[in-house]
Amino acid sequence: MPLVQPVPALGIPSAPPSLGFQGKVMATGVNHPAENPILHGEKDGINKYVQKYGNRAWKDMILYTTGKLCSMCISTLIWAGVGGAGYTSPIDGIRKAGIEQIGLPARQVVEASPF
Ligand SMILES: [Zn+2]
Repeated sequence: MPLVQPVPALGIPSAPPSLGFQGKVMATGVNHPAENPILHGEKDGINKYVQKYGNRAWKDMILYTTGKLCSMCISTLIWAGVGGAGYTSPIDGIRKAGIEQIGLPARQVVEASPF
């Protein structure tokens, strides 16, 4: 799975987490920390995509989000077979904003995946 920095010229917003296909936003998600601590915006967006379009066309989708993906969310994208992921802020930028992150880089998770 390629990890890319989102390009504003694609017309896909970087926040909230959005699944896009050829410049069109297919689904978006938001964090739900009070309801479910593991329901990050990326996973919420995937759930909403499945509700709207079914379990299909994952390799054509690119997920764009503000912060670099946490290890849980990048693993989720790999399991779903999403075609790529883009982000705006690196993990260090998120930490500097006072939000704790697990120190397992998304690229390391991608490289550890056999698929
Ligand atoms: Zn996450």
